[in-house]
Amino acid sequence: MKIKHLLLAVLLLGVITVSAQTKRKKSTTTAVTAGSELTRPKLVVGIVVDQMRWDYLYRYYDRYQSNGFKRLLNEGFSCENTQIDYIPTVTAAGHTCIYTGSVPSIHGIAGNDFIIQATGKSMYCAGDTTVKTVGSTSTAGEMSPRNLLTTTVTDELKLATNFRSKVIGIALKDRGGILPAGHAANAAYWFDDKTGNWITSTYYMNDLPQWVKDFNNQKLAEKYLKLDWDPLYPVNTYLQSSPDNSARYEGKFKGTDSPTLPVKTSALYKGHWGMIRSTPYGNTLTLDFAVSAINNEQLGKHSVTDFLAVSLSSTDYVGHQFGVNAVETEDTYLRLDRDLAKFFAFLDAKVGKGNYTVFLTADHGAAHNPAFLTDHNIPAGQWNEKGVLAGLNTMLENRYKVKRLVLGFGNYQVNLNYAAINKERLNADAIKYDCIKYLQQQPDVAYAVDMQQVQTASIPDELRGRIINGYNAERSGVIQIILKPGWFSGFSPTGTTHGTWNPYDAHIPLVFMGWGIKHGSLTRETHMTDIAPTVAALLHIQAPNGNIGKPIGEIFK
Ligand code: ZN
Ligand code: ZN
Repeated sequence: MKIKHLLLAVLLLGVITVSAQTKRKKSTTTAVTAGSELTRPKLVVGIVVDQMRWDYLYRYYDRYQSNGFKRLLNEGFSCENTQIDYIPTVTAAGHTCIYTGSVPSIHGIAGNDFIIQATGKSMYCAGDTTVKTVGSTSTAGEMSPRNLLTTTVTDELKLATNFRSKVIGIALKDRGGILPAGHAANAAYWFDDKTGNWITSTYYMNDLPQWVKDFNNQKLAEKYLKLDWDPLYPVNTYLQSSPDNSARYEGKFKGTDSPTLPVKTSALYKGHWGMIRSTPYGNTLTLDFAVSAINNEQLGKHSVTDFLAVSLSSTDYVGHQFGVNAVETEDTYLRLDRDLAKFFAFLDAKVGKGNYTVFLTADHGAAHNPAFLTDHNIPAGQWNEKGVLAGLNTMLENRYKVKRLVLGFGNYQVNLNYAAINKERLNADAIKYDCIKYLQQQPDVAYAVDMQQVQTASIPDELRGRIINGYNAERSGVIQIILKPGWFSGFSPTGTTHGTWNPYDAHIPLVFMGWGIKHGSLTRETHMTDIAPTVAALLHIQAPNGNIGKPIGEIFK
């Protein structure tokens, strides 16, 4: 009897749970499925601001205008605590993670450049020698997404609509446009320094569309460079930055005496179109091109959702050259704020307010310049990567009588010279152990971790997970080097860089706005890997095939 009662109780509970689940499902999906047809935004615009730290939303807040970053925060939904859940925090891995919901271990983009462990050969994330440049005679177009091992959310949109959706990727940097647009994109376009034109590769097409040729014929890069880079405001009013002549912290343009605004780009560029990358005009040019793409490809005007993936690269070039605490960086964000306001106003007019969804995020942040920090008594420093590598190879040579047993420290990982190890029949495990011992003795190294023994290493879990997620056995080095906070490997004493696990590199902005998005903010921890599954949930399409993130349900209307 008792068993019967119990069974009945269990069955009843089951029925109640199932009906509760159905109810819950119904209530969360009615908003998007009201009416007889599935509703979706007409257009999704993904904006990656290269090297934008999360705190830049607030660092310059008081001088932002009302319709750029402030509009995102005041109308949209901000996930305030979004973390990158792998190392290395670099551009290619970041853009790929945002659009795949996956990590280097799975998606294979283990760095901007990485070493194929089996051959010792270097691979560029988007490099593809089987394709040719379209739109220039340079080699800058020999690029494709073929090294990416998983689908992107943009690929999944293509699959979900039987390839009726249009997907286009745009960035000055090839990897910033190619990786987000995915394998099945209609096009990705990037900037060619040799001609100052937007180009693509034969992966996508054999000839540029007429509208791209027309855009290039406007010679906008030259027009912008001829304007010079003047500060928006008097330089002494940039209260969030060091005095403008901080040559100790900032890198100057070639041909100038000091790292100060204004920069007479009109006199300096002399046909070197690539100079626009390191000025705010690079972002302006990119958004001009995005507007032209929307107009000419009729994005947001089809019966199915289109997707434009834009990445703004100039923030990264400016950041590398001048650092976090520079008037040039502050001015670049204030100008980007104005450019974004104009872009959102265009989207309102062209696609219609409420008809499109925008998200804005970053591929990584950046550290403060170490000299700037130490001048303020904050521990920091530049790691002598070349010196430590030379010392390590000398130690190994003394022991094993073979030169250059370590190829390099790319992405803070030790890449062993397996060709030499195999030829001389050396014990790779013993060499690895010797490397770890040597690296752990270096004063600036916090940890040197065996990639195949991460689980048993005495390191905080926050690091453990990031190392495992970043480790791709075929494409990553076999030891992960973690420097002390504030330290990074730099080849120039000025400016800055990124690539570590620390919050300045790994805490990124993430704001959604528009169709399907409610207003609000969230402080619980969210992850870069959550972006793609969130967009997939919004669109009612499959998450990408290597996705490990979770949809951020709080943002949905
Ligand atoms: Zn970047
Ligand atoms: Zn960078």
